[in-house]
Amino acid sequence: MTSSAANGGTALDRFWTGDYYNEGVGGKDSIFDKLKEECGVFGVFGHPDAANLSYYGLHALQHRGEESCGICTADEESFHYHRGMGLVKEVFDRDKLEALTGNQAIGHVRYSTAGASKLANAQPLVFKYRGGDLAVCTNGNLVNEPGIRKELEDSGSIFQTTSDTEVIAHLIARSPKDLVQAVKEAFARLIGGFAFLIQTQGRLIAACDPHGLRPLVMGKLGDAYIFASESCALETIGAVYVRDVQPGELLVLDQDGLHEDRFAPMVRRAVCAMEYIYFARPDSDIYGVNLHSSRKRMGQQLAQESFVDADIVTGVPDSSISAAIGYAEQTGIPYELGLIKNKYTGRTFIQPSQELREKGVKMKLSAVRKVVEGKRVVMIDDSIVRGTTSLRIVNMLREAGALEVHVRITSPPFMNPCYYGIDTPNPADLIASSKTVEEIRQAINADSLYFLSDTGLIDSIGGHDEEFNRGLCMACFNNDYPTPVEFEEAKTTSCGCD
Ligand code: SF4
Repeated sequence: MTSSAANGGTALDRFWTGDYYNEGVGGKDSIFDKLKEECGVFGVFGHPDAANLSYYGLHALQHRGEESCGICTADEESFHYHRGMGLVKEVFDRDKLEALTGNQAIGHVRYSTAGASKLANAQPLVFKYRGGDLAVCTNGNLVNEPGIRKELEDSGSIFQTTSDTEVIAHLIARSPKDLVQAVKEAFARLIGGFAFLIQTQGRLIAACDPHGLRPLVMGKLGDAYIFASESCALETIGAVYVRDVQPGELLVLDQDGLHEDRFAPMVRRAVCAMEYIYFARPDSDIYGVNLHSSRKRMGQQLAQESFVDADIVTGVPDSSISAAIGYAEQTGIPYELGLIKNKYTGRTFIQPSQELREKGVKMKLSAVRKVVEGKRVVMIDDSIVRGTTSLRIVNMLREAGALEVHVRITSPPFMNPCYYGIDTPNPADLIASSKTVEEIRQAINADSLYFLSDTGLIDSIGGHDEEFNRGLCMACFNNDYPTPVEFEEAKTTSCGCD
């Protein structure tokens, strides 16, 4: 087994906020208070170029996690892996990829945590057990992980990381059963939202939680099988989408091909609604629903529910542009690029003074004065978490000369924590948990404010009529969690890979 690691614990890492690629940043000291994405997984089975394909696939999933990444390949001899802190393009170069030989691979991008850059938690995690080499990576969070971890520790297990992934590896390694049976029994114990990829020499296993909370798709590239958190990664490498991995399903690939199995029945499909609203890329499809199209429908629905007379519609880039186009189409009010995001800001270092922090915001997002000056603006955004980001953006538009700023949000008020891998702040810090819509409007300095209704959101996404909530998790809006969450130790503030 060969391995290497990059950039572990440098001085820069201690100051890196990790928020330079997308809008997802947490922590009360962060410039933006958007929800943080979780992680992304990618897998290849049966292709001689597995490492390079994983590189491109992970690059397409970069928006799901920027703090660290890794790839583990397997050839006939052993595993080869490399993990590091930073973006995929920073962690891997030609030499590192050439060292990752073999026709199967799993890879991971991990989201950022404010102030905690831990190489030990970078994935895939790689283990040696009695069956040989084992590599595991995950996206999501196990609600009952602390209880299982304690049980394992009490019976002698020693953990190197704080990650859910390691708990799974221990459950598998301790089982006397063969690998697939051990994985099935381990997964049957898990409660939460997760998508897993597990690799041994000659085998790749993909699985989704029984509610399908976290997305995972399967594709094909020639005879090779590809797995990815989002379908955009399939497109990137020229693979053809085959299907979504179903809730509770366990897919096993080996020399005999694909084996379709289950570790649990589908209980109630509950795909994370925030994937549709904000997390996933607009060119991805989840369960056949294209993200750009569903966001456009959210904008159209917002216009029907809350029309306001205005001169221009603008969207907070990037996730709200599709919805702004939909709002504009529905109302006839022209869509304009009133806000521009600078994608090339590089790493951001939190500055000590408020004045410099505000400059940091403008470095990432700017109002276009010539577009908004003297105009009544409808500003579309995907969510309001603490309210601080919305206030900054509204004030930015006003400083650029907007006469009025009407805020329209493509989700219902976000008022409950997520237990399934989305990094949400302390519930008391969620502005919608304690303030009325009118109080939030005042707090963000908007002329008017409207949140999309629950039914409006569900209708915009679509889905199967016969399914509860049409197959969506809406718990952060309506407090109706698809799994039990009353575990004393349940984590609410991080992805399980942290
Ligand atoms: S609680 Fe909200 S963020 Fe968490 S999985 Fe459900 S819809 Fe997604």
